[in-house]
Amino acid sequence: MLETAIRKGLRETGRRMTRTRKAVLALLERTHEPLSASEIFAQLQQAQVAIDLVTVYRTVNVLKELGLVLQLDLFQEGQSRYELKEGRKHHHHIRCQICGRIVDLLLCPLKKLTKLIEERTQFVVDDHTLEFTGFCPKCQ
Ligand SMILES: [Zn+2]
Ligand SMILES: [Zn+2]
Ligand SMILES: [Zn+2]
Repeated sequence: MLETAIRKGLRETGRRMTRTRKAVLALLERTHEPLSASEIFAQLQQAQVAIDLVTVYRTVNVLKELGLVLQLDLFQEGQSRYELKEGRKHHHHIRCQICGRIVDLLLCPLKKLTKLIEERTQFVVDDHTLEFTGFCPKCQ
């Protein structure tokens, strides 16, 4: 079903489902962690997909334009990460201080706090950021 939606999006903007786009989407679909372009590149190379880094950047940008992929700039890493938009609402992330692994926390616990802030400040809150760091099971 995801693939049908993607094909439709591509067709509507005059683009085709190339092997590269398919490979990047499939990788993001089975990865539950936001990946950087160089990680996507490394993993596709490992999977014997013929691709270069420039093509990875171009591909994630096309997928982002189509609204299929989210670009995340997290933890002041100085590099963007990408994750599939499908099935993900607003959520937060945790990063391992040792290995740099980032895991999705598919939740947001800030509803009450947001309401409190609005009451106290008379602001209308439209967004927030919240990042966790720690030590993953492998690095503890
Ligand atoms: Zn770790
Ligand atoms: Zn995420
Ligand atoms: Zn949140």
